Amino acid sequence: MIPCRARADGGTAEWTHAGGAVMTRPTFTCCHCNRVTIVPVAARAEDCGGFCRLCMAPTCSGCADKGCTPFERELERSEAAGRLMASMGL
Ligand SMILES: [Zn+2]
Ligand SMILES: [Zn+2]
Repeated sequence: MIPCRARADGGTAEWTHAGGAVMTRPTFTCCHCNRVTIVPVAARAEDCGGFCRLCMAPTCSGCADKGCTPFERELERSEAAGRLMASMGL
């Protein structure tokens, strides 16, 4: 099923099928990798991924088993490592 029109914003994805039927599904953004997941029909958001208790926000299925590694914190960590290396003269 190829949608002829689709958009996803404000936590809701909406698309129109060729037959003219408009579909809307809730979406959520993974708090770790910022990927938007569309919650499938007959599924709950909790079934489509995970929930990080440190971020208090949903994660995608790909991040669900990886613990709390938000990409912002990943960046901070590599920047901190860079500063440490620099301060050691490396
Ligand atoms: Zn993710
Ligand atoms: Zn987290």
